[in-house]
Amino acid sequence: MSESTPTTGSTPEDPRTLTDEDWAARLSPEEFHVLRRAGTERAFTGEYWDTNTVGVYACRACGAELFRSEQKFSAHCGWPSFFAPLAEDRVEYREDTTLGMRRVEVRCAACASHLGHVFEGEGYDTPTDLRYCINSISLTLQPEGPA
Ligand SMILES: [Zn+2]
Repeated sequence: MSESTPTTGSTPEDPRTLTDEDWAARLSPEEFHVLRRAGTERAFTGEYWDTNTVGVYACRACGAELFRSEQKFSAHCGWPSFFAPLAEDRVEYREDTTLGMRRVEVRCAACASHLGHVFEGEGYDTPTDLRYCINSISLTLQPEGPA
């Protein structure tokens, strides 16, 4: 309740403490809708659903590295699909019962922004039988390779 500046010294800002206003100032309205309001971009409209570029996909909200191109596969569902995150601790899961379905929401573990959903047992020929169906707009691809 104090108005004074937090005395956290040089500790980096914790993105979990940001308010909606902070996020609205940092993100485009479309990004805000998906990342902070658990929206979903239209299938086949995102930047990365059909991308094969080698690199790391980072959280568009906070920059945490979330997925690698090696775990991306073509599910032809209209969104970037991964069979695993870069590391299990990069994401967190929440049960989502909106739309009358039981789904598992995937969020960025660093800033709690909405990324998409994870589905299992769909029969894709992948090592995990999981499909992380992630909004392109929740990600920023950082391409690797010859500079
Ligand atoms: Zn994040």
